[in-house]
Amino acid sequence: MLRRLGLPDDLTEFGHRPYHGNRSLWGGVVNVDDFLRRGLGYGWHLDRASFDQWLRDAAVLHGTRLLSPARLQAVAPRPGGGWNLRLIYAGRTVEHTARFVVDASGRHAALAARLGVHRRRCDEMLAIATLVPMCEAGLGTLSLVEATADGWWYAASLPSGMVLVSLMTDHDIARSQKLIRSEVFYKAWATTQELATLVPPPASLPVPSVFPAHTLFSERAAGRGWLSIGDALLALDPLTSSGITGALEDACAATETIRAWLGSVREADRIAAAISYARRADGTLRRYLKERSRLYAAEDRWTDRPFWKRRTPEPPAEAAETSFYQAPTGKF
Ligand SMILES: Cc1cc2nc3c(=O)[nH]c(=O)nc-3n(C[C@H](O)[C@H](O)[C@H](O)COP(=O)(O)OP(=O)(O)OC[C@H]3O[C@@H](n4cnc5c(N)ncnc54)[C@H](O)[C@@H]3O)c2cc1C
Repeated sequence: MLRRLGLPDDLTEFGHRPYHGNRSLWGGVVNVDDFLRRGLGYGWHLDRASFDQWLRDAAVLHGTRLLSPARLQAVAPRPGGGWNLRLIYAGRTVEHTARFVVDASGRHAALAARLGVHRRRCDEMLAIATLVPMCEAGLGTLSLVEATADGWWYAASLPSGMVLVSLMTDHDIARSQKLIRSEVFYKAWATTQELATLVPPPASLPVPSVFPAHTLFSERAAGRGWLSIGDALLALDPLTSSGITGALEDACAATETIRAWLGSVREADRIAAAISYARRADGTLRRYLKERSRLYAAEDRWTDRPFWKRRTPEPPAEAAETSFYQAPTGKF
């Protein structure tokens, strides 16, 4: 993906950490999936803030005018096509016009929400996370995933020298078991098998942070003069570890759509480009939902527990007929 975007693909010199595989305890089996065996090269444990800034800098180098940080305040279609935008930037309100707009605002979907696009939530998962110093035994350059009765744990060493430890569970489970309380969170951590051995819970207890981690998608991927990418389009279960690559792939597909939209004289050609983008998004969502069900079904030790029961449903018969992404219409 990075090469396709014209960027260097060795991120070591930018301070990121190579990541060589996944260790997991899933379905009662400890497994090490070494990327060497896949022959696709390795991945990266990113310093996310610096990676995002690096992408923004690269965009500027290629001629993008960047207003950052900025907040979208209002958006309205212009008569005859395009948009009027009102942003808050550097403490001021600024007005802009655009021929095409892209919603890349993550789970907030700031643009799609203002355009009245309905968002569908598939579950109530959240991540309860903390950072601890790297320890002796450690994870090395592997990530760790460990299933437990009420969710699953994830751990990875970050370039900062800290280890990210996170529990994915559902909102109601977290609330009823008070998992957000540090003493309960660390007690649950201490009862894990692989995680507690490789990354023992520390003696002092920082308060964990909570992040939304539910699957969420927009029912429209594109419309007249706009489209959505990344989490604004489809926010994935972190188990897939593919949110960032997915967002970059969306961006590449969006480029083609925008080029076709702006370059076409005939209205029918523009609409065809937007429909093709919506169809691609529909395919991505269907593949993702199938893969998510397959991954969760591989853990069968707690099928009677709410967290696992909710994730291995029989697919409803009508699901095969549903098109999640509606084709763009004249509405926007
Ligand atoms: C717990 C957890 C673990 C994850 N682990 C992984 C992983 O291991 N690997 C992986 O690839 N992905 C992972 N992800 C997913 C990944 O973080 C996202 O898929 C990715 O960040 C999506 O990128 P994005 O650019 O679409 O959105 P974001 O990264 O959320 O960026 C959105 C941007 O829009 C800006 N914005 C928001 N609202 C407005 C507004 N109103 N006006 C203007 N700007 C706005 C924000 O400030 C931000 O800069 C994980 C997610 C979670 C929750």
